[in-house]
This record gives sequence, C-alpha cells and structure tokens, in this order.
Amino acid sequence: MKDNCIFCKIANGEIPSKTIFENDNFRVILDLGPATKGHALVMPKEHYANLYELPEDLAMEAMKIAKQMAEKMTKALSCQGFNLVQNNGEVAGQTVHHFHLHLIPRYEGDGQNILWEPGKASPEELEEVKNCILQ
Ligand code: 5GP
Ligand code: ZN
Repeated sequence: MKDNCIFCKIANGEIPSKTIFENDNFRVILDLGPATKGHALVMPKEHYANLYELPEDLAMEAMKIAKQMAEKMTKALSCQGFNLVQNNGEVAGQTVHHFHLHLIPRYEGDGQNILWEPGKASPEELEEVKNCILQ
C-alpha cells in the first residue's frame, strides 16, 4: 500500500465503499461522481500507478472482471450499452494515480459523450506512425 493513496485505502477496505465485487486481487466499487447510473471502478488491491506499472497477469484479470461485471450490470441496470475507459497520466485525464478501469453503463439519452473528435491523417502519416511503432 502506498501512503496517502486513497484508492489503496478503498481497495483494502480501510475506507468504506460501495463494493460490487471483490476477490484476492481486486475490488470493484461504485464511483462517487458517476458519469451514469452504475459507473464503477475496477481497482487492484496492490498499488500500481497506471497501466505501465500494472503486471500483465493483473491486466488480464482486470479485463476478465470487466467483462463479467459488464454482463451482470447490463442485466441488472438494463443499460443499452457500455464503455470501458482507462486513463493514464494527467494529459489523458487521470486524476487518481492508482490504476483503475472505469465501467460506464450507457443509456439512451444519458447526455454523456465519452468519445473524441475524429482527426485526419494522410496515408504517408499513417505509414510513418506505423514504422515508428514497429521499429
Ligand atoms: P480518473 O480521472 O483518474 O480516470 O478517475 C478517477 C475517478 O475516481 C473519478 O471518476 C472520480 O469520480 C472517482 N473518485 C475519486 N475519488 C473517489 C473516492 O473517494 N471514492 C470513489 N468511490 N470514487 C472516487
Ligand atoms: Zn494506491
């Protein structure tokens, strides 16, 4: 556990939360400032600041839990769609620096817009980016 990390305290039960799933490695809690009804966060009990620090086995487990929770929550809440969102770094919108995966149920007319403005890229630019990543 990391000192002064609120999600370490929540994940390990030191601070109470609305827990909707728990196992040895993870806790899933309702977000205090929900984007929509049922917005939840999958968080490891050990402290990892972000996806880069998270070990691969826990990354796999986080996605498995997300799938199971999405199925359960979709039935329970009768949402029509579902977003998974995971922010890394302030520039990407991360505000709490303990890895978490957002589970966001979506409803017709919920007023949320968890999307981006599509940009433009020429075939040459795409080729350059591809080569940059592959090298
Ligand atoms: P981020 O912006 O880092 O991806 O997401 C942080 C999320 O944590 C936000 O959606 C915010 O509402 C939620 N959050 C911040 N502090 C608390 C807290 O103390 N309890 C709960 N349940 N959620 C929190
Ligand atoms: Zn932490």
